[in-house]
Amino acid sequence: MTIDKDVLIVGGGPAGIAAACRVAEAGYTVRLCDAAPSLGGAIFRGAGDASPFISTEYLSTWRAMEAELKAHAASIRVMKSTSFVGLDSTGVAVLKNCSNREAMQLSPRAVIIATGAIENIRPVPGWHLPKVVTAGGLQVNMKACSTAPDGDIIIAGNGPLLLAVAAQLAKLGNPPIAIVESGRPMLPRLQVLGLPLAYVREALSYYRTLKKFRVPWIQGAFIERISERDDGLSVTIRKGIRTNTHDVDIVALHNGLQSSRTGMPVENIDLRKGIIVLHAGDCCEPLGARAAPASGRHAADRLLAVLRPSAAPPVIPLHLRRQALAQARLKTIFKPVSHLPLHSMSDDTVICRCEQKTVGDLRELLLGPGTSAKEIKLNGRFGMGRCQGRFCARSTLDMAKELTGESHTTESLTGNRWPASPISIGALARLATDSSSTNAADSESQDT
Ligand SMILES: Cc1cc2nc3c(=O)[nH]c(=O)nc-3n(C[C@H](O)[C@H](O)[C@H](O)COP(=O)(O)OP(=O)(O)OC[C@H]3O[C@@H](n4cnc5c(N)ncnc54)[C@H](O)[C@@H]3O)c2cc1C
Repeated sequence: MTIDKDVLIVGGGPAGIAAACRVAEAGYTVRLCDAAPSLGGAIFRGAGDASPFISTEYLSTWRAMEAELKAHAASIRVMKSTSFVGLDSTGVAVLKNCSNREAMQLSPRAVIIATGAIENIRPVPGWHLPKVVTAGGLQVNMKACSTAPDGDIIIAGNGPLLLAVAAQLAKLGNPPIAIVESGRPMLPRLQVLGLPLAYVREALSYYRTLKKFRVPWIQGAFIERISERDDGLSVTIRKGIRTNTHDVDIVALHNGLQSSRTGMPVENIDLRKGIIVLHAGDCCEPLGARAAPASGRHAADRLLAVLRPSAAPPVIPLHLRRQALAQARLKTIFKPVSHLPLHSMSDDTVICRCEQKTVGDLRELLLGPGTSAKEIKLNGRFGMGRCQGRFCARSTLDMAKELTGESHTTESLTGNRWPASPISIGALARLATDSSSTNAADSESQDT
Protein backbone atom coordinates (compact mmCIF):
# COMPACT_ATOMS: atom_id res chain seq x y z
CA MET A 1 0.00 0.00 0.00
CA THR A 2 1.49 3.37 -0.96
CA ILE A 3 0.66 6.21 1.35
CA ASP A 4 -0.25 9.45 -0.41
CA LYS A 5 1.56 12.50 0.83
CA ASP A 6 -1.77 14.24 1.29
CA VAL A 7 -3.62 14.99 4.46
CA LEU A 8 -7.32 14.31 3.84
CA ILE A 9 -9.73 16.84 5.27
CA VAL A 10 -13.39 15.88 5.25
CA GLY A 11 -15.80 18.82 5.28
CA GLY A 12 -15.35 22.17 3.59
CA GLY A 13 -17.05 24.31 6.22
CA PRO A 14 -15.13 26.94 8.18
CA ALA A 15 -13.40 24.32 10.37
CA GLY A 16 -12.28 22.17 7.42
CA ILE A 17 -11.09 25.14 5.36
CA ALA A 18 -9.15 26.63 8.29
CA ALA A 19 -7.55 23.24 9.00
CA ALA A 20 -6.64 22.79 5.31
CA CYS A 21 -4.95 26.20 5.13
CA ARG A 22 -2.96 25.61 8.33
CA VAL A 23 -1.75 22.17 7.16
CA ALA A 24 -0.86 23.59 3.72
CA GLU A 25 1.00 26.50 5.35
CA ALA A 26 3.15 23.93 7.18
CA GLY A 27 4.26 22.49 3.82
CA TYR A 28 1.94 19.48 3.44
CA THR A 29 -0.39 18.81 0.54
CA VAL A 30 -4.07 18.52 1.31
CA ARG A 31 -7.19 17.02 -0.22
CA LEU A 32 -10.30 18.80 0.99
CA CYS A 33 -13.52 16.96 0.16
CA ASP A 34 -17.09 18.05 0.70
CA ALA A 35 -20.30 16.21 -0.11
CA ALA A 36 -21.90 19.50 -1.20
CA PRO A 37 -21.35 21.09 -4.62
CA SER A 38 -19.87 24.23 -3.02
CA LEU A 39 -17.69 24.98 -0.01
CA GLY A 40 -18.73 27.05 3.02
CA GLY A 41 -20.55 24.52 5.20
CA ALA A 42 -23.79 25.15 7.04
CA ILE A 43 -23.13 28.83 7.61
CA PHE A 44 -21.27 30.15 4.55
CA ARG A 45 -22.69 28.08 1.71
CA GLY A 46 -24.18 30.49 -0.81
CA ALA A 47 -22.79 33.49 1.08
CA GLY A 48 -23.04 36.53 -1.16
CA ASP A 49 -23.07 40.26 -0.54
CA ALA A 50 -26.85 40.52 -0.85
CA SER A 51 -27.65 37.37 1.14
CA PRO A 52 -30.11 37.91 4.02
CA PHE A 53 -28.50 34.89 5.68
CA ILE A 54 -25.17 36.41 6.46
CA SER A 55 -24.20 39.35 8.64
CA THR A 56 -21.35 41.75 7.81
CA GLU A 57 -19.29 40.05 10.54
CA TYR A 58 -19.71 36.60 8.97
CA LEU A 59 -19.32 37.92 5.43
CA SER A 60 -15.88 39.34 6.22
CA THR A 61 -14.85 36.05 7.90
CA TRP A 62 -15.93 34.19 4.75
CA ARG A 63 -14.14 36.59 2.40
CA ALA A 64 -10.92 36.12 4.45
CA MET A 65 -11.32 32.32 4.30
CA GLU A 66 -11.83 32.39 0.52
CA ALA A 67 -8.69 34.53 0.14
CA GLU A 68 -6.64 32.18 2.34
CA LEU A 69 -7.83 29.16 0.41
CA LYS A 70 -6.87 30.87 -2.84
CA ALA A 71 -3.43 31.69 -1.48
CA HIS A 72 -2.86 27.98 -0.76
CA ALA A 73 -4.49 26.73 -3.98
CA ALA A 74 -1.29 25.02 -5.13
CA SER A 75 -1.24 22.75 -2.07
CA ILE A 76 -4.96 22.19 -1.48
CA ARG A 77 -6.87 19.98 -3.92
CA VAL A 78 -10.57 20.69 -3.46
CA MET A 79 -12.97 17.83 -4.19
CA LYS A 80 -16.54 19.11 -4.24
CA SER A 81 -19.60 16.82 -4.46
CA THR A 82 -17.39 14.13 -2.96
CA SER A 83 -18.63 12.30 0.08
CA PHE A 84 -16.40 10.57 2.61
CA VAL A 85 -17.68 7.02 3.04
CA GLY A 86 -15.24 5.57 5.55
CA LEU A 87 -11.76 4.65 6.65
CA ASP A 88 -10.79 0.98 6.81
CA SER A 89 -8.47 -0.58 9.36
CA THR A 90 -5.49 -0.34 6.99
CA GLY A 91 -5.88 3.42 6.59
CA VAL A 92 -7.57 3.38 3.18
CA ALA A 93 -10.19 6.10 2.86
CA VAL A 94 -13.17 5.43 0.60
CA LEU A 95 -14.85 8.43 -1.02
CA LYS A 96 -17.87 8.66 -3.30
CA ASN A 97 -18.43 10.94 -6.26
CA CYS A 98 -21.91 12.27 -5.47
CA SER A 99 -22.72 12.83 -9.17
CA ASN A 100 -21.96 9.40 -10.67
CA ARG A 101 -22.01 7.53 -7.31
CA GLU A 102 -18.71 5.81 -8.14
CA ALA A 103 -16.25 5.07 -5.34
CA MET A 104 -12.62 6.14 -5.15
CA GLN A 105 -9.90 5.39 -2.65
CA LEU A 106 -7.02 7.25 -1.09
CA SER A 107 -4.35 6.30 1.41
CA PRO A 108 -3.81 9.60 3.19
CA ARG A 109 -1.10 10.48 5.63
CA ALA A 110 -3.72 11.61 8.17
CA VAL A 111 -7.39 12.56 8.27
CA ILE A 112 -9.15 15.54 9.82
CA ILE A 113 -12.92 15.07 10.10
CA ALA A 114 -14.83 18.37 10.05
CA THR A 115 -18.33 17.22 9.13
CA GLY A 116 -20.22 19.74 11.27
CA ALA A 117 -23.39 19.09 13.22
CA ILE A 118 -26.90 17.81 12.65
CA GLU A 119 -30.12 19.01 14.22
CA ASN A 120 -31.81 17.36 17.19
CA ILE A 121 -35.53 16.93 16.73
CA ARG A 122 -37.65 15.94 19.71
CA PRO A 123 -40.52 13.76 18.49
CA VAL A 124 -44.10 14.96 18.94
CA PRO A 125 -47.22 13.19 17.67
CA GLY A 126 -47.40 13.99 13.95
CA TRP A 127 -43.79 15.17 13.44
CA HIS A 128 -43.39 12.54 10.71
CA LEU A 129 -46.11 14.09 8.51
CA PRO A 130 -45.35 15.70 5.14
CA LYS A 131 -44.71 19.46 5.47
CA VAL A 132 -43.13 19.02 8.90
CA VAL A 133 -39.49 19.95 8.30
CA THR A 134 -36.46 20.88 10.39
CA ALA A 135 -35.74 24.58 10.91
CA GLY A 136 -32.20 24.04 9.59
CA GLY A 137 -33.57 22.23 6.53
CA LEU A 138 -35.90 25.14 5.87
CA GLN A 139 -32.92 27.49 6.14
CA VAL A 140 -30.84 25.39 3.72
CA ASN A 141 -33.72 25.49 1.23
CA MET A 142 -34.03 29.26 1.55
CA LYS A 143 -30.27 29.61 1.07
CA ALA A 144 -30.45 27.49 -2.08
CA CYS A 145 -33.32 29.34 -3.76
CA SER A 146 -33.26 32.77 -2.01
CA THR A 147 -37.04 32.68 -1.51
CA ALA A 148 -39.21 31.81 1.47
CA PRO A 149 -41.73 29.00 1.08
CA ASP A 150 -45.37 30.07 0.65
CA GLY A 151 -48.04 29.60 3.29
CA ASP A 152 -48.37 29.92 7.06
CA ILE A 153 -45.34 28.62 8.97
CA ILE A 154 -44.82 27.85 12.68
CA ILE A 155 -41.30 27.40 14.00
CA ALA A 156 -41.05 25.39 17.20
CA GLY A 157 -38.58 23.74 19.54
CA ASN A 158 -35.68 25.24 21.34
CA GLY A 159 -32.66 27.47 20.88
CA PRO A 160 -31.39 30.58 19.09
CA LEU A 161 -31.63 29.04 15.59
CA LEU A 162 -35.43 29.43 15.81
CA LEU A 163 -34.97 33.22 15.97
CA ALA A 164 -32.43 33.24 13.13
CA VAL A 165 -34.68 31.25 10.78
CA ALA A 166 -37.76 33.29 11.72
CA ALA A 167 -35.92 36.56 11.01
CA GLN A 168 -34.65 35.19 7.67
CA LEU A 169 -38.18 34.13 6.68
CA ALA A 170 -39.42 37.62 7.59
CA LYS A 171 -36.69 39.28 5.51
CA LEU A 172 -37.63 37.11 2.54
CA GLY A 173 -41.25 38.28 2.81
CA ASN A 174 -43.01 35.49 4.72
CA PRO A 175 -42.66 35.96 8.49
CA PRO A 176 -43.75 32.90 10.49
CA ILE A 177 -47.07 33.15 12.31
CA ALA A 178 -45.28 32.29 15.61
CA ILE A 179 -42.13 30.96 17.21
CA VAL A 180 -42.87 28.40 19.94
CA GLU A 181 -39.91 28.15 22.35
CA SER A 182 -39.81 25.52 25.10
CA GLY A 183 -37.33 27.58 27.17
CA ARG A 184 -37.78 31.00 28.74
CA PRO A 185 -34.72 32.81 27.35
CA MET A 186 -35.94 36.28 28.35
CA LEU A 187 -36.01 35.39 32.06
CA PRO A 188 -32.32 34.92 33.01
CA ARG A 189 -31.36 38.48 32.01
CA LEU A 190 -28.10 38.46 34.00
CA GLN A 191 -26.88 35.46 31.98
CA VAL A 192 -27.40 37.48 28.78
CA LEU A 193 -25.02 40.12 30.15
CA GLY A 194 -22.27 37.49 30.26
CA LEU A 195 -22.49 36.73 26.54
CA PRO A 196 -19.85 38.10 24.15
CA LEU A 197 -20.92 41.35 22.47
CA ALA A 198 -21.13 39.74 19.02
CA TYR A 199 -23.78 37.28 20.30
CA VAL A 200 -25.84 40.08 21.87
CA ARG A 201 -25.62 42.13 18.66
CA GLU A 202 -26.74 39.17 16.55
CA ALA A 203 -29.64 38.38 18.93
CA LEU A 204 -30.75 42.03 18.93
CA SER A 205 -30.78 42.17 15.15
CA TYR A 206 -33.07 39.09 15.01
CA TYR A 207 -35.21 40.50 17.80
CA ARG A 208 -35.64 43.84 15.99
CA THR A 209 -36.65 42.09 12.75
CA LEU A 210 -39.17 39.93 14.60
CA LYS A 211 -40.61 42.99 16.39
CA LYS A 212 -40.87 44.88 13.12
CA PHE A 213 -42.82 42.03 11.50
CA ARG A 214 -44.81 41.42 14.73
CA VAL A 215 -43.85 37.75 14.99
CA PRO A 216 -45.05 36.37 18.35
CA TRP A 217 -42.31 34.59 20.35
CA ILE A 218 -44.24 32.25 22.65
CA GLN A 219 -41.87 31.11 25.42
CA GLY A 220 -42.26 28.24 27.90
CA ALA A 221 -44.55 26.48 25.39
CA PHE A 222 -44.40 23.45 23.13
CA ILE A 223 -46.24 21.70 20.33
CA GLU A 224 -48.39 18.95 21.79
CA ARG A 225 -49.67 17.44 18.53
CA ILE A 226 -49.54 17.97 14.78
CA SER A 227 -52.31 16.48 12.66
CA GLU A 228 -53.33 16.58 9.02
CA ARG A 229 -56.23 18.76 7.88
CA ASP A 230 -57.44 19.24 4.31
CA ASP A 231 -54.24 20.19 2.50
CA GLY A 232 -52.43 21.55 5.55
CA LEU A 233 -51.58 20.88 9.19
CA SER A 234 -53.31 21.56 12.48
CA VAL A 235 -50.97 22.33 15.39
CA THR A 236 -51.87 22.24 19.08
CA ILE A 237 -49.64 24.44 21.23
CA ARG A 238 -49.56 24.02 25.00
CA LYS A 239 -48.43 26.72 27.42
CA GLY A 240 -49.05 25.67 31.02
CA ILE A 241 -52.67 24.52 31.28
CA ARG A 242 -53.80 26.39 28.14
CA THR A 243 -53.84 24.97 24.65
CA ASN A 244 -54.39 26.73 21.30
CA THR A 245 -54.82 25.20 17.89
CA HIS A 246 -53.55 26.82 14.67
CA ASP A 247 -54.02 25.80 11.06
CA VAL A 248 -50.75 26.13 9.16
CA ASP A 249 -49.04 24.94 5.99
CA ILE A 250 -45.55 24.17 7.30
CA VAL A 251 -44.14 23.31 10.73
CA ALA A 252 -40.38 23.71 11.24
CA LEU A 253 -38.90 21.91 14.27
CA HIS A 254 -35.48 22.25 15.91
CA ASN A 255 -34.08 21.30 19.33
CA GLY A 256 -30.41 22.21 19.15
CA LEU A 257 -27.43 20.61 17.41
CA GLN A 258 -25.34 17.48 17.93
CA SER A 259 -21.99 16.57 16.40
CA SER A 260 -22.27 14.68 13.11
CA ARG A 261 -19.97 11.70 13.65
CA THR A 262 -22.08 8.65 12.79
CA GLY A 263 -19.89 6.20 10.84
CA MET A 264 -16.84 8.44 11.17
CA PRO A 265 -13.48 7.14 12.45
CA VAL A 266 -12.72 7.98 16.07
CA GLU A 267 -9.82 10.27 17.00
CA ASN A 268 -6.38 8.66 17.09
CA ILE A 269 -3.14 10.50 17.74
CA ASP A 270 -0.98 7.42 18.28
CA LEU A 271 0.90 6.48 15.10
CA ARG A 272 1.48 2.96 16.47
CA LYS A 273 -2.30 2.41 16.51
CA GLY A 274 -2.75 3.41 12.88
CA ILE A 275 -3.55 6.43 10.82
CA ILE A 276 -3.88 9.77 12.66
CA VAL A 277 -7.48 10.98 12.84
CA LEU A 278 -8.60 14.25 14.40
CA HIS A 279 -11.98 15.94 14.69
CA ALA A 280 -12.55 19.66 14.18
CA GLY A 281 -15.34 22.23 14.37
CA ASP A 282 -18.93 21.31 15.22
CA CYS A 283 -18.13 17.66 14.53
CA CYS A 284 -15.82 17.75 17.56
CA GLU A 285 -18.19 19.87 19.68
CA PRO A 286 -20.99 22.15 18.41
CA LEU A 287 -19.46 25.50 19.41
CA GLY A 288 -20.87 27.52 16.51
CA ALA A 289 -19.62 29.44 13.53
CA ARG A 290 -17.40 31.83 15.53
CA ALA A 291 -15.43 28.92 17.00
CA ALA A 292 -15.19 26.73 13.89
CA PRO A 293 -12.12 28.31 12.19
CA ALA A 294 -10.16 28.31 15.48
CA SER A 295 -11.18 24.72 16.10
CA GLY A 296 -10.00 23.75 12.59
CA ARG A 297 -6.63 25.45 13.11
CA HIS A 298 -6.28 23.79 16.52
CA ALA A 299 -6.92 20.33 15.00
CA ALA A 300 -4.29 21.10 12.34
CA ASP A 301 -1.79 22.17 15.02
CA ARG A 302 -2.47 18.94 16.94
CA LEU A 303 -1.83 16.99 13.74
CA LEU A 304 1.39 18.86 13.01
CA ALA A 305 2.60 18.16 16.56
CA VAL A 306 2.19 14.42 15.83
CA LEU A 307 3.74 14.56 12.36
CA ARG A 308 6.68 16.63 13.63
CA PRO A 309 7.53 15.31 17.07
CA SER A 310 9.80 18.32 17.68
CA ALA A 311 6.73 20.61 17.68
CA ALA A 312 5.20 21.31 21.10
CA PRO A 313 1.62 20.06 21.56
CA PRO A 314 -0.64 23.10 21.15
CA VAL A 315 -2.73 24.51 24.00
CA ILE A 316 -6.43 25.16 23.44
CA PRO A 317 -6.64 28.74 22.11
CA LEU A 318 -8.24 31.33 24.38
CA HIS A 319 -10.77 32.24 21.67
CA LEU A 320 -11.98 28.63 21.57
CA ARG A 321 -12.32 28.49 25.34
CA ARG A 322 -14.32 31.74 25.30
CA GLN A 323 -16.65 30.39 22.61
CA ALA A 324 -17.16 27.20 24.65
CA LEU A 325 -18.15 29.34 27.66
CA ALA A 326 -20.51 31.41 25.50
CA GLN A 327 -22.20 28.28 24.15
CA ALA A 328 -22.58 26.88 27.68
CA ARG A 329 -24.21 30.16 28.69
CA LEU A 330 -26.55 30.03 25.69
CA LYS A 331 -27.59 26.53 26.75
CA THR A 332 -28.47 27.82 30.23
CA ILE A 333 -30.40 30.76 28.77
CA PHE A 334 -32.38 28.48 26.43
CA LYS A 335 -32.78 25.57 28.88
CA PRO A 336 -36.13 23.93 28.03
CA VAL A 337 -38.62 24.37 30.86
CA SER A 338 -41.60 22.72 29.30
CA HIS A 339 -42.13 19.66 27.16
CA LEU A 340 -43.87 16.30 27.44
CA PRO A 341 -41.88 13.25 28.57
CA LEU A 342 -41.53 10.99 25.54
CA HIS A 343 -43.16 7.99 27.22
CA SER A 344 -46.32 10.02 27.91
CA MET A 345 -46.92 10.60 24.19
CA SER A 346 -49.59 8.61 22.40
CA ASP A 347 -48.57 5.12 21.27
CA ASP A 348 -48.77 6.11 17.60
CA THR A 349 -46.04 8.79 17.96
CA VAL A 350 -43.25 7.86 15.54
CA ILE A 351 -39.74 7.81 17.02
CA CYS A 352 -37.73 6.19 14.21
CA ARG A 353 -38.90 7.74 10.95
CA CYS A 354 -36.91 5.44 8.67
CA GLU A 355 -38.45 2.26 10.09
CA GLN A 356 -41.73 3.91 11.27
CA LYS A 357 -41.19 2.63 14.82
CA THR A 358 -43.38 4.21 17.47
CA VAL A 359 -43.57 5.06 21.17
CA GLY A 360 -45.94 2.06 21.53
CA ASP A 361 -43.41 -0.29 19.85
CA LEU A 362 -40.64 0.86 22.18
CA ARG A 363 -42.85 0.65 25.27
CA GLU A 364 -43.69 -2.97 24.40
CA LEU A 365 -40.06 -3.85 23.69
CA LEU A 366 -38.97 -2.46 27.05
CA LEU A 367 -41.49 -4.56 28.99
CA GLY A 368 -38.87 -7.32 29.10
CA PRO A 369 -36.21 -6.91 31.81
CA GLY A 370 -32.77 -5.41 31.07
CA THR A 371 -33.21 -4.69 27.35
CA SER A 372 -29.80 -3.59 26.04
CA ALA A 373 -29.28 -0.85 23.44
CA LYS A 374 -28.20 -3.53 20.97
CA GLU A 375 -31.47 -5.43 21.53
CA ILE A 376 -33.44 -2.20 21.05
CA LYS A 377 -31.77 -1.92 17.65
CA LEU A 378 -31.71 -5.55 16.52
CA ASN A 379 -35.08 -6.68 17.92
CA GLY A 380 -36.93 -3.38 17.76
CA ARG A 381 -35.33 -2.00 14.54
CA PHE A 382 -34.87 1.45 16.11
CA GLY A 383 -31.91 3.09 14.36
CA MET A 384 -31.79 0.29 11.74
CA GLY A 385 -32.90 2.44 8.80
CA ARG A 386 -31.16 4.61 6.28
CA CYS A 387 -30.18 7.34 8.76
CA GLN A 388 -28.50 4.69 10.95
CA GLY A 389 -29.86 6.27 14.11
CA ARG A 390 -28.54 9.79 13.45
CA PHE A 391 -31.97 11.28 14.12
CA CYS A 392 -33.68 8.74 16.39
CA ALA A 393 -31.01 7.17 18.60
CA ARG A 394 -31.09 9.96 21.15
CA SER A 395 -34.90 10.04 21.52
CA THR A 396 -35.06 6.24 21.62
CA LEU A 397 -32.54 6.10 24.44
CA ASP A 398 -34.09 9.09 26.25
CA MET A 399 -37.42 7.27 26.33
CA ALA A 400 -35.70 4.04 27.42
CA LYS A 401 -34.17 5.98 30.31
CA GLU A 402 -37.52 7.50 31.26
CA LEU A 403 -39.08 4.03 31.43
CA THR A 404 -36.28 1.90 32.85
CA GLY A 405 -33.94 4.42 34.51
CA GLU A 406 -31.06 2.90 32.51
CA SER A 407 -28.71 5.18 30.53
CA HIS A 408 -27.05 4.04 27.30
CA THR A 409 -24.64 5.99 25.13
CA THR A 410 -25.91 6.87 21.64
CA GLU A 411 -23.06 4.82 20.18
CA SER A 412 -24.21 1.71 22.03
CA LEU A 413 -27.28 1.83 19.77
CA THR A 414 -25.83 3.15 16.52
CA GLY A 415 -22.49 1.34 16.73
CA ASN A 416 -19.63 3.09 14.99
CA ARG A 417 -18.77 1.62 11.66
CA TRP A 418 -18.64 2.90 8.17
CA PRO A 419 -20.15 3.53 5.61
CA ALA A 420 -20.87 7.03 6.84
CA SER A 421 -22.96 7.59 3.72
CA PRO A 422 -24.68 4.94 1.60
CA ILE A 423 -22.66 3.35 -1.19
CA SER A 424 -23.60 0.55 -3.57
CA ILE A 425 -21.90 -2.83 -3.38
CA GLY A 426 -21.29 -2.50 -7.14
CA ALA A 427 -19.29 0.70 -6.61
CA LEU A 428 -17.19 -1.00 -3.92
CA ALA A 429 -16.65 -4.06 -6.12
CA ARG A 430 -15.53 -1.87 -9.04
CA LEU A 431 -13.17 -0.09 -6.65
CA ALA A 432 -11.49 -3.38 -5.78
CA THR A 433 -10.89 -4.27 -9.43
CA ASP A 434 -10.27 -0.86 -10.97
CA SER A 435 -7.05 0.75 -9.81
CA SER A 436 -7.78 3.80 -11.96
CA SER A 437 -10.56 4.75 -9.54
CA THR A 438 -8.05 6.68 -7.42
CA ASN A 439 -7.60 8.99 -10.34
CA ALA A 440 -11.28 9.87 -10.28
CA ALA A 441 -10.46 12.09 -7.35
CA ASP A 442 -8.05 14.04 -9.47
CA SER A 443 -10.68 15.01 -11.97
CA GLU A 444 -12.78 16.86 -9.39
CA SER A 445 -13.18 20.61 -9.60
CA GLN A 446 -10.62 22.61 -7.72
CA ASP A 447 -12.45 25.93 -7.69
CA THR A 448 -13.77 27.25 -4.43
C1 LIG B 1 -28.75 23.31 9.95
C2 LIG B 1 -27.82 24.30 10.59
C3 LIG B 1 -28.14 25.65 10.58
C4 LIG B 1 -27.28 26.59 11.18
N1 LIG B 1 -27.62 27.90 11.16
C5 LIG B 1 -26.81 28.81 11.73
C6 LIG B 1 -27.14 30.19 11.74
O1 LIG B 1 -28.18 30.60 11.24
N2 LIG B 1 -26.28 31.06 12.32
C7 LIG B 1 -25.12 30.62 12.91
O2 LIG B 1 -24.36 31.43 13.43
N3 LIG B 1 -24.78 29.33 12.93
C8 LIG B 1 -25.61 28.41 12.36
N4 LIG B 1 -25.28 27.08 12.40
C9 LIG B 1 -24.03 26.69 13.06
C10 LIG B 1 -22.84 26.92 12.12
O3 LIG B 1 -23.25 26.67 10.81
C11 LIG B 1 -21.75 25.98 12.49
O4 LIG B 1 -21.35 26.24 13.81
C12 LIG B 1 -20.50 26.10 11.62
O5 LIG B 1 -20.85 26.09 10.27
C13 LIG B 1 -19.59 24.93 11.95
O6 LIG B 1 -18.59 24.82 10.99
P1 LIG B 1 -17.96 23.39 10.64
O7 LIG B 1 -16.94 23.64 9.62
O8 LIG B 1 -17.60 22.68 11.88
O9 LIG B 1 -19.17 22.54 10.03
P2 LIG B 1 -20.14 22.86 8.77
O10 LIG B 1 -20.13 24.31 8.44
O11 LIG B 1 -21.42 22.23 9.13
O12 LIG B 1 -19.42 22.08 7.61
C14 LIG B 1 -19.40 20.69 7.54
C15 LIG B 1 -19.22 20.30 6.10
O13 LIG B 1 -18.99 18.88 6.05
C16 LIG B 1 -19.63 18.37 4.92
N5 LIG B 1 -19.86 16.94 5.14
C17 LIG B 1 -20.64 16.35 6.07
N6 LIG B 1 -20.56 15.02 5.97
C18 LIG B 1 -19.70 14.76 4.95
C19 LIG B 1 -19.19 13.57 4.36
N7 LIG B 1 -19.56 12.34 4.79
N8 LIG B 1 -18.34 13.68 3.32
C20 LIG B 1 -17.94 14.91 2.85
N9 LIG B 1 -18.40 16.06 3.39
C21 LIG B 1 -19.24 15.99 4.42
C22 LIG B 1 -20.92 19.17 4.80
O14 LIG B 1 -21.41 19.16 3.47
C23 LIG B 1 -20.46 20.55 5.24
O15 LIG B 1 -20.11 21.38 4.16
C24 LIG B 1 -26.10 26.14 11.81
C25 LIG B 1 -25.78 24.78 11.81
C26 LIG B 1 -26.62 23.86 11.21
C27 LIG B 1 -26.26 22.39 11.22
